[in-house]
Amino acid sequence: MSTRRFFWKVLLVTASVVVVTALLVNWRVTSVAEARRLAVIEARTLDEALMYARLVAEPLARDVVGGDARAAALQTQARGLSAELAGRRFTLISRAGAVLADSHEDPALMDDHGQRPEVLSPGQAFTRESTTLGRRLLYAAQAVRSPGDGQALGFARVARSVEDIEAELGELNRATQVAAALALAVGLVLALFVSSRLTRPLQRIAEVLAAMGRGDSYGNLPVTSRDEIGQLATHVNDLSERLRDRMGRLAASVQQDRAILGAMEEGVLAVDAGGRIVLANGAAARLLGGSDDDPAGRLLAEVSRAPDLLAAVEACLQTGTKVTLGVKASSAAGERELQVNVVPLVDDAQDVEGCVTVLRDITELRRLETVRSDFVANVSHELKTPVAAIMGYVEAILDDPDMEPETRRSFLGHAAENSSRLSSIISDLLALARLESEDAVSREDVDLGQVVGRVVDSARVGAELEQVEIQWDATPSAPHVLGDARSLERAVSNLVENAMKYTPRGGHVRVGLRADESFAWIEVSDDGPGIPAHEQERIFERFYRVDKDRSRALGGTGLGLSIVKHAVSAHGGQITVESVVGDGATFRIRLPLPVGPDETDRSGGR
Ligand code: ADP
Repeated sequence: MSTRRFFWKVLLVTASVVVVTALLVNWRVTSVAEARRLAVIEARTLDEALMYARLVAEPLARDVVGGDARAAALQTQARGLSAELAGRRFTLISRAGAVLADSHEDPALMDDHGQRPEVLSPGQAFTRESTTLGRRLLYAAQAVRSPGDGQALGFARVARSVEDIEAELGELNRATQVAAALALAVGLVLALFVSSRLTRPLQRIAEVLAAMGRGDSYGNLPVTSRDEIGQLATHVNDLSERLRDRMGRLAASVQQDRAILGAMEEGVLAVDAGGRIVLANGAAARLLGGSDDDPAGRLLAEVSRAPDLLAAVEACLQTGTKVTLGVKASSAAGERELQVNVVPLVDDAQDVEGCVTVLRDITELRRLETVRSDFVANVSHELKTPVAAIMGYVEAILDDPDMEPETRRSFLGHAAENSSRLSSIISDLLALARLESEDAVSREDVDLGQVVGRVVDSARVGAELEQVEIQWDATPSAPHVLGDARSLERAVSNLVENAMKYTPRGGHVRVGLRADESFAWIEVSDDGPGIPAHEQERIFERFYRVDKDRSRALGGTGLGLSIVKHAVSAHGGQITVESVVGDGATFRIRLPLPVGPDETDRSGGR
């Protein structure tokens, strides 16, 4: 299409140039040719008039008065000359202006010619419309002078038509028209050639630029000439190269930004002034909508059902100020508590063109805060009871110096019992604190056979007293782990103590140790009352007891299993419980075995 348009333009320009040139040439040539031709004819006619003047000088001088015979002779002569020189008209005019002879008319009928311009200025030619013949004629007159004294006798005039000049000029015109038509034809071919020569590379450049504009490709044009088109192609290639480079860097940077946003735990969400989501990272999508689908392009109000969040974004868009608030939102992971910061995005003119919202999931933080404050309340409560008891007994003794020795001993015994309880709680709390700071757990080679063996040995005395049988099924190849012997011993000891505490007289406590490819397993089971299924998850929480009074009566702090759980997880292990109410309980510790070269050490260490 564009080739055709270009072709027509070139053709139009060429045709205009040809036509204008042809017209100019035609005008100039015809006017010059006409002037030349006229000059030649004028000179010739003047010569003919001179010749006529010479011919009539003699007879006119002979008899100036004239007579019919002479008039007839002059008339015959004029006619004869006209017959000889076809197309000429000969007229003889007297000095006074009367026509004496005329080759075409009767002189008697002709008017006075004394005022004719050629008669007034002999020796000059004049072109005018003939009054007698009604045609355009050239007139030239010469004075007839007496051969003897040179006295003026009259005027010899020759007239002739100039129409043959016009015919000649008409031919000239036709020749110019043919030349113009030929030039036009050449112009057409030229237009075709120029347009195809010019437009092909231009069209290629246009195609490449259009593709660059669409971002489809960055073409490399062949540079075939050093003219303006060649320079244009070179510039387009440079531009394409720079654009490709810049787009590449931009894409990399966008990729990087996406990766950073994608890796963020915080949800990041950008909306435009109309509340439509422009960008959202995966965390934002999950926190708001509960799905991983990219919500970009949708309205925030469609994606989130948290009215507080929508109101905050709306407020930010309206006022252009930062908004911070806590929001509850339901996502796939259930009800989440979010801390939301909404910051306006302003353009150069300080108009709000959108806002960025950062969503922080603080559900876990809040839970931990609650756990911490609950823990502080629990600790205070747990400590208060024995402290109050001790204070009570001591004050009673102090208040009554005459107290019965028996009563005093009993009171002191209670105070001592509560002191020991206080000490147990404090010692368990310290153990927990120590386990929570991971650095305190050393990583040395621990022979689990020795650890469990020591616990069983020290439990045997108490077991005999309680009439509980302890069965210890150690495997012949006791496994080794990397860790802290003291905290592992405390964990196993807590399990064995619990088992003995909750096992009735005559019952059994079984302690087992075994290993497979990757893990060491320590099992402690008993014949006790068991733990209800719904409590099994919670017994590992601090200060949680299934039966508070019974636990206290048995000297429990409610921290034992919590310590076990912490110690085991500090070693990368797990603690589980299996129990049926009335049918005892089995606690199972799973500890990962060291990998690599340590494996040989492990078997060699036994
Ligand atoms: P406590 O000092 O009270 O024993 P633990 O943290 O050791 O505290 O245990 C938490 C609770 O788990 C106990 O109060 C008890 O109700 C229950 N429990 C622990 N071990 C056993 C067991 N072997 N048999 C039955 N219940 C148990």
